Amino acid sequence: MKPFRYAAMALCILAVLAGCTTCGGGSSSGPAPPPVSPTRPEFDRGLAFTALQAQCDFGPRNPGSTGHEDCRQWLVQQLSALADRVVQQDFSSRTPLGGPYSFQNIVGLFGSTVAGSPLLLGAHWDTRPIADQDPVPGNRGTPILGANDGASGVSVLLELARLMKQRPPTRPVIIALFDAEDSGMSGVADFPYQGFCIGSDYLADNWPQELPQPAEMILLDIVGTDAQNNPRLQPNGEIDGPLFKLEGNSLNSNPGLVNELWTIAESHGNSAFVRSTGLTVTDDHLPFIDRGVPSVDIIHFAPAEWHTIDDTPEHCSADTLYQVGDTLVDVIWED
Ligand SMILES: [Zn+2]
Repeated sequence: MKPFRYAAMALCILAVLAGCTTCGGGSSSGPAPPPVSPTRPEFDRGLAFTALQAQCDFGPRNPGSTGHEDCRQWLVQQLSALADRVVQQDFSSRTPLGGPYSFQNIVGLFGSTVAGSPLLLGAHWDTRPIADQDPVPGNRGTPILGANDGASGVSVLLELARLMKQRPPTRPVIIALFDAEDSGMSGVADFPYQGFCIGSDYLADNWPQELPQPAEMILLDIVGTDAQNNPRLQPNGEIDGPLFKLEGNSLNSNPGLVNELWTIAESHGNSAFVRSTGLTVTDDHLPFIDRGVPSVDIIHFAPAEWHTIDDTPEHCSADTLYQVGDTLVDVIWED
């Protein structure tokens, strides 16, 4: 993920779309709670966190590393046991940080026999080869572990995959684990998207024939931030998350889905979702937006540990993974 140099223009459309939940009605007891289906699948935060830890146990998953190859095999195994169909999409590419490297997007299809509008859920599984945001210069050449920036989004998707194996979704759902997201460099001119999004760009450009075309997409990136202070990086005691603000490209591309997601989150008390406009970022949703798939990025913009050697499971939270997964349950199993 790379923030643009300028903040997103403030967009008021969401406030308008959201309406007002506190001023209508005339009842003194407040808005009615959402109807809860007795069979609504329950997202397991513990299993999601276990999947985050399992990825980190392979070590850094930067291109060309042993951890990258070991984790790739594990992800294929995991998804193959759960999806109706899995596509392993191999490609090779240079990145702004080196190569050429061998890469693989891993894509699973769920609900292959149900009708409805296909939903693409994505997250990148590779990790950044350098900790270039670390305050200690000597740490900046070290590959990050990518617990939050990498493993967190994948862990939510794997838990949702487990639930979809138990109970098929009410619409086709495609889970895409993108390779080659996090070797970009701000300002490089000879790569599309500044060298971020290499895997998602390849998949969007070479969509597998055996999979339905997605009607819309939701991207998860950096969705595991905990609510603790990190004294090394936040010496004044700050706590910066978890916090999911509205991302600029998502608001432009698919304001209806942004509103739907934040409304679901609010109705379930998933308080990390905050309806204020955040940054506009280059991330794996952009190649799909650019090819006509309206997309939304759920992302915590640059928590303290972002691209530092402290992006470890100790600074992630199962509760935050739950907030994201629980919100997605309602778009996977529609009433
Ligand atoms: Zn990153």
